[in-house]
Amino acid sequence: MSITGIKGMNDILPADSACWQFLEQQARTIFAAYGCREIRVPVVEKTELFCRSIGESTDIVEKEMYTFTDRSNHSLTLRPEGTAPVMRAFIQHKLYNTDQVSKLYYMGPMFRYERPQKGRYRQFHQIGAEIIGIDDPRIDAQVLAMLSHYFDAVGIDDVSLQINSLGCPQCRPGYRQALVDYLQQRLEQLCPDCQRRYLSNPLRVLDCKVAGCKQSTAAAPSVLDHLCGDCADHFTSVQHHLDLIDVDYTINNRMVRGLDYYTRTTFEMVTGSLGAQNAVAAGGRYDGLIEELGGPALPGIGFAMGVERLVLLLQERDISVPPPALFIAALGDNAVSAAFTIMHKLQRQGIHVEMDFGGKSLKAQMRRANKLGCRYTLLLGEDELASGTAQLKNMNDSSQNTLQLAGIEEQLRTVLDA
Ligand code: ATP
Ligand code: MG
Repeated sequence: MSITGIKGMNDILPADSACWQFLEQQARTIFAAYGCREIRVPVVEKTELFCRSIGESTDIVEKEMYTFTDRSNHSLTLRPEGTAPVMRAFIQHKLYNTDQVSKLYYMGPMFRYERPQKGRYRQFHQIGAEIIGIDDPRIDAQVLAMLSHYFDAVGIDDVSLQINSLGCPQCRPGYRQALVDYLQQRLEQLCPDCQRRYLSNPLRVLDCKVAGCKQSTAAAPSVLDHLCGDCADHFTSVQHHLDLIDVDYTINNRMVRGLDYYTRTTFEMVTGSLGAQNAVAAGGRYDGLIEELGGPALPGIGFAMGVERLVLLLQERDISVPPPALFIAALGDNAVSAAFTIMHKLQRQGIHVEMDFGGKSLKAQMRRANKLGCRYTLLLGEDELASGTAQLKNMNDSSQNTLQLAGIEEQLRTVLDA
């Protein structure tokens, strides 16, 4: 029996990788315009990092982490998300000494032990950004503008931006209590999961997908009615600046995030086309996180996009890979050697050239050139070689030209560049 991959961990095959590269390249280009630079952190961290940042009573820490002990008995975890590792690196390398604001982005695999289904995997990929050092609401607006710019640029329009504010350590406890009081009256209607967590993580109940929980929290108190003055002002200003630059959004006062570190502005980019996996990107402000992890008291805000979900939304769009510019069909040992040299010289100039190494007939080679969709085929047989020429065939209109073998690479370049 041959060995297969691990359930929920996918191979990205050549047929799909162009789409991935497109999504990654767009992120690099667009994020750069907002001043973000890439940071690359390891995929494994000390388990403690995630427990402390994401929170002990979250789904991720309670049941989704890939945690193991290494040969020295250290507890390590495959990163389930990118923010905590990026903050760990930010603190460890004292990036705050270099500049008072750090604008970072990252991309790469994340790991969560979830039930695999469409849009939900055990190894998945995120592209994320973090802006550290500024608590001005205009930064929130910039981050959201960058996110919606990205979706415009890659051509995904079946999404909408939802925003909310989760308040701060001053006002959240008041809201939390109001919510617990409300939930306590309706405990029998809640699912077992929510009955268990309504005290440890009451906000999470608002996010529960079970119908009974949705129903019984329909009239739950709104976090927006419990914001302190500063948080309310911040949220108003975020909206004002989004309006100023025409970034569309809706307010969703039931949106809570599954990680403990969020404060104030939180947001999701949601789609109607992926069933239950409707969040394509998510993020928020985390003003206490860096200090919590042992760094200076600096505010931050960021988001992560799920690349697999972006790919699913892009699937209708055909990201075509350009065909080879040239196929060289050669017959006879000497001609094949000459062809091999020409191919190599053109490839060194960055031109995609293909040839056949199987000793096939000219006809079979032409069939292959056609199948690959090559724009031109260069025909080189013993006769041509003897007369120091080759035939260049335009595969679109079948027209044929005689080229001199001397200096053929330059002649080909001129034709292929045109
Ligand atoms: P969900 O509600 O779908 O479980 P989440 O709140 O757990 O999402 P975040 O931790 O905020 O998600 O991660 C940000 C984004 O990463 C999500 O919006 C989603 O696009 C993507 N994502 C999260 N978990 C997975 C997964 N298991 N497989 C694929 N993509 C994922
Ligand atoms: Mg999740």
